[in-house]
Amino acid sequence: MRQIIIAGNWKMHKTVSEAVSFVQELKQKDLNPAVEVVVCPPFTALAPVAEALKGSSIALAAQNMHWENQGAYTGEISPVMLKELGCKYVVLGHSERRQYFGETDETVNKKVKAALAAAIIPIVCVGETLEQREAGTTEQIVATQTKGGLQGLTAEQVASLVIAYEPVWAIGTGKTASDEDAQQVNQYIRQVVASEFGHTTAEAVRIQYGGSVKAGNAQGLMSQPDIDGGLVGGASLTVDDFVGIIENS
Ligand code: PGA
Repeated sequence: MRQIIIAGNWKMHKTVSEAVSFVQELKQKDLNPAVEVVVCPPFTALAPVAEALKGSSIALAAQNMHWENQGAYTGEISPVMLKELGCKYVVLGHSERRQYFGETDETVNKKVKAALAAAIIPIVCVGETLEQREAGTTEQIVATQTKGGLQGLTAEQVASLVIAYEPVWAIGTGKTASDEDAQQVNQYIRQVVASEFGHTTAEAVRIQYGGSVKAGNAQGLMSQPDIDGGLVGGASLTVDDFVGIIENS
């Protein structure tokens, strides 16, 4: 059985004090123990949020990292730095990073390998743009991104990580993929994993959906057989919205 994982991707939101008061409030909530809850603060808030989360089951994730552990890479953050802070997960290849910061399947793949080497679980994001969907190339795009991001990994490594299907046209737009559309692509991604890494691996890997997930649509999405959680942006920024999603998952 795959445990549902709901991750709040805060993107470039929340100062340290805002981040800490958010998690202090979240910790007080009676969260469904069947759901794995993750918060992804910006780098500056990771250490204080890790401290505030002590004694809770809420996990910490970073939103990006470099693939080298150290070196002359001004402005970058490394896997070992994140590991020491207590990051359990790292989001890699988010479409905003692909679109604005030049991430490619190749750099995502390097980062995925580096995360695993540092014992951080990657959340690998894939998804098509509106133009690609309209051109009928959704499956081709997610297959290429999935294969490219996971290239060279062992089946065991793939089974341990998380894939997030995030159609770019649904991110921050209020347009959610229908339950059926999201299920269809998630199922397809699982097939791609099966063809590359085998059936057992495909059954084990968790595949989230992301793109305008909110309390009102979480139940329908999370009850789909191939949707194992959500990567949530906008609705993860306020405690009540985020808790609503966790409750309905
Ligand atoms: P959204 O963002 O929930 O605001 O659409 C999702 C994401 O980018 O992870």
